[in-house]
Amino acid sequence: MTNTISAKRKSTLDKLYHAFEVVSEGSYVYLCDMKYDFSKWSAEAVQYFDLPSEYMYQAGDIWEQHIHPDDKENYHQSIADIFSGTDKGHDMQYRARDRMGRYVVCTCRGTVLLDADGSPDYFVGCIRNHGLVNSMDSLTGFQNQFGLFEHLNVLYSKQSKANIMMIGVGHFATVNEMWGYDFGNLVIHKLVQLLKERFRNEGVLYRVSGVKFVLLSSSLSLDEMKISYESLREEISEKLVIDGYRPNLRIYGSAMEIKEFQISPQAMFSCLEYAYNISKERKNGSLHIFNDEADENRTSLLTLINAIRKSIVNDCQGFMLYYQPIMNAKTGTLYGAEALLRWQTPAYGLVPPNRFIPIIENDPAFVQLGEWILRKALTDMKPVLDTYPDFEINVNVSFEQLRQDSFVSMVKQALDETGFSPRNLCLEITERCRLLDMTRLSAIVSDLRSIGVLFAIDDFGTGYSSMDILNQLKCEVIKVDKSFIDNVAKDANNAKLITVVSSLADIYGSKACVEGVETEEQCRIVKECGVSSIQGYYYSRPLPLNEFIEKLQSSRN
Ligand code: C2E
Ligand code: CA
Ligand code: CA
Repeated sequence: MTNTISAKRKSTLDKLYHAFEVVSEGSYVYLCDMKYDFSKWSAEAVQYFDLPSEYMYQAGDIWEQHIHPDDKENYHQSIADIFSGTDKGHDMQYRARDRMGRYVVCTCRGTVLLDADGSPDYFVGCIRNHGLVNSMDSLTGFQNQFGLFEHLNVLYSKQSKANIMMIGVGHFATVNEMWGYDFGNLVIHKLVQLLKERFRNEGVLYRVSGVKFVLLSSSLSLDEMKISYESLREEISEKLVIDGYRPNLRIYGSAMEIKEFQISPQAMFSCLEYAYNISKERKNGSLHIFNDEADENRTSLLTLINAIRKSIVNDCQGFMLYYQPIMNAKTGTLYGAEALLRWQTPAYGLVPPNRFIPIIENDPAFVQLGEWILRKALTDMKPVLDTYPDFEINVNVSFEQLRQDSFVSMVKQALDETGFSPRNLCLEITERCRLLDMTRLSAIVSDLRSIGVLFAIDDFGTGYSSMDILNQLKCEVIKVDKSFIDNVAKDANNAKLITVVSSLADIYGSKACVEGVETEEQCRIVKECGVSSIQGYYYSRPLPLNEFIEKLQSSRN
């Protein structure tokens, strides 16, 4: 039995709903007053799915009637966890029945808003309707990523074990550029034919994006997948000939077991993609099997990633920022800091970023976390800036964040809302951003630079395109990677390199910063190399906010 909502609460509901609707961009908005279990849903959703009304009591139960039988249990559990207070949000995919009785694929994200006493007040979210054309890819006839997730949901609900393999072609854009799109399409056709011949009887194939395919199989073992994959690679280089031309395709692959059903399919997919990137970046294309290695606390990586993804949806609970001082090399004073992410929960302890960032950095969920990081850093450092107006805060941004159309407006809004001066913010980007279209990256940089935001190129010297990025973007700061400092006292070449980077920085009108300085000797040498700033354990480890502020005050007074 639910109580009838008061007129005052209903008017608040309407106002809040309106606020969310303004920013919902092409999704259906729903807002639930959790105290009365009374909701308002978007008129489009009511129309499309034939719901009783825009205003509904117990809308969750009504909506559940529209959800595909195979997806119902997941949905039900998630809503139950939200209403019982176990979870503060959800991020899921399911099929929902429309007014014609057809199922459309929907992704649904929602968050709980708390009242002043910290108890659940509103549940707000949006549902994106991906439509009917959901699961078929017209070029290959395979199902796409939605189809794959539907299949995974079924496996999960039945707890059936299987193995999953991702196979893709790298640098396919160059094939299109060199030979034209028609030729590119022919290559994909031929590739699909080879994939079909090999795997037709072994499982189901999906085209998950561009030139990336997934095989889901309950018959092939991981070892068999590895053998098949290697022979497929040979076959592609021998047989993939079109009109007498042999495009030189670079094939990459990863695989893993599906055997733990408490881990969300999205978390698992992230790990598969991460393993794929290892095949691409470090293994020269040999199949990389996701190794669910455990850390010293015997937490498996998959379990960790699953828990971290959940934390992100739960209002980034458990995440915090540490601040590592950056010193002026000439004066020795503390002039800025780099914000560094940490994750700590009672169950997992303090988890260092290297254990999880490389995996979730490419996950769409990272976008939400990235925004949290920026806002948190600006909010924490605003009082610092009020006292020390020359203070600079460095915040790392990842590839997935930059890829979002809304990145620039997100940064501007965060600056506006926190009142932080753009000139005191420096965004660190890494070499990985070369994967982004350079014209786009340049546009992002010049747009934010026009309001004063600074840019640093991080880990300079570790990849072959550092120079390229520097040339194109003319970053204000060049951060020399720690690997050059490690041997600076033993190997004179490293010192020379740092000197060269310092002069390079002069030419570009930038500043060179070295990271990872641990000893007095290293510090002396890098100063002689002419760098502008220094960051490293020699001065300080990354510190929690209060300790950082103490350090700053004692350095400045
Ligand atoms: P990074 O951006 O290159 O950050 C510098 C890392 O070097 C930090 O590790 C810092 O603690 C460590 N470091 C600094 N001085 C020394 C030293 O003297 N000796 C040694 N051994 N290490 C030193 P941390 O905090 O573990 O972060 C590792 C990486 O995780 C970062 O490398 C960055 O790539 C990523 N990361 C951390 N926070 C964020 C974040 O907020 N967003 C993103 N996108 N990535 C982050
Ligand atoms: Ca950094
Ligand atoms: Ca770095």
